[in-house]
Amino acid sequence: MKAVYLDNNATTRVDPAVVETMLPFFTEQFGNASSAHAFGASVGGALKTARKQLQELLGAAHDHEIVYTSGGTESNTTAILSAIEALPGRDEIVTSQVEHPSVLQLCQHLEKTGRAKVHYIGVDRLGRLDLDAYRAALSDKVALVSIMWANNETGTIVPVEGLAELAKGVGALFHTDAVQAVGKVPVSLKDSAIDMLSLSGHKLHAPKGVGALYVKRGARFKPLLRGGHQERGRRAGTENIPGVIALGKAAELAILRLADEQGRVKDLRDRLEKAIVQSVPHCFVNGDPHDRLPNTSNIAFEYVEAEAILLHLNRAGIAASSGSACTSGSIEPSHVLLAMSIPVTAAHGAIRFSLSRDNSAEDVERVIEVMPGIIEKLRALSPFGAEGGKETSEFKPQYA
Ligand SMILES: *Cc1c(COP(=O)(O)O)cnc(C)c1O
Repeated sequence: MKAVYLDNNATTRVDPAVVETMLPFFTEQFGNASSAHAFGASVGGALKTARKQLQELLGAAHDHEIVYTSGGTESNTTAILSAIEALPGRDEIVTSQVEHPSVLQLCQHLEKTGRAKVHYIGVDRLGRLDLDAYRAALSDKVALVSIMWANNETGTIVPVEGLAELAKGVGALFHTDAVQAVGKVPVSLKDSAIDMLSLSGHKLHAPKGVGALYVKRGARFKPLLRGGHQERGRRAGTENIPGVIALGKAAELAILRLADEQGRVKDLRDRLEKAIVQSVPHCFVNGDPHDRLPNTSNIAFEYVEAEAILLHLNRAGIAASSGSACTSGSIEPSHVLLAMSIPVTAAHGAIRFSLSRDNSAEDVERVIEVMPGIIEKLRALSPFGAEGGKETSEFKPQYA
């Protein structure tokens, strides 16, 4: 039985064409891009091409607005620490309660060590940002706004371009964690007010350990890593050349596959979601039904433990996730679902299915087939027992 992988927001399979493109950079083309000889020059040329490919995916004005990093976490960290340093006299950060831990934990650390005051903007039941609270938090004390483009757990898309305009109005820098958005929704930075944007290779069919931070030309910036003059002095250290080449190829493929993502992949996701909500009692979809990533479905199954569901899915050869990979394994329900005021009895049973170009209709049908039986079995075992099914929450399934 072929395994069904529906955890693409945690990581994706490297595209075979990406592997093929990067391999020569371990062997024949092993040079250091900074070297003045022929070995370096050929690698330097390939690096330039890769940068152009990523520029195109982002719709950026210049290829040198791209700074390669080791991934999403480093890009987020660089953006936040840079802004705090680059705008003296401003020591406030505006972010949201539903950010990735790489943003939230750093903000909490900066707060604890007295380096910044942080506003954590809340969200509503659909995960949409509280715009009044956002506007109220903006002032000339704010150095940086960091708000994610799309949520990794629910797929909810945030109108970051408008938020960036508002931030610009008070002279603050605007950063967005777009790790989940890039490759899934169109991105065009040329005419936007977004100053910095994070992306990660392994979320878009490139390898783990490579990513990028877009830094708009003219945006004030301080490097995290100092030393060599790589990346125009904005990120010292010899570039991960095979990774960077891979990211370029992945960007080229992402442009070609965007229509598939928003068409076929979205249809598969919708089929999965509707069938489950119709066949399983007492479950509902989390996230904004109107503005959501095409590949992500977060479904809360009331009165069951997500970990137990995952165990049964895994036995059936299906890989999904509870909330984010970073919070699974902990007993606390997801901070994202709690910020959305999802009842704890439902947040504990939330499963994230995240699809990609690698998924087929058969994958989705397998999940639809096994899901009702798994939930029924677990509910029969749960302390709520047969009663659990009768106790309805105030929530109404969105597709029921
Ligand atoms: C995966 C992820 C990250 C972290 O990226 P890494 O490359 O694994 O460090 C950051 N933000 C979001 C939204 C993510 O999904």
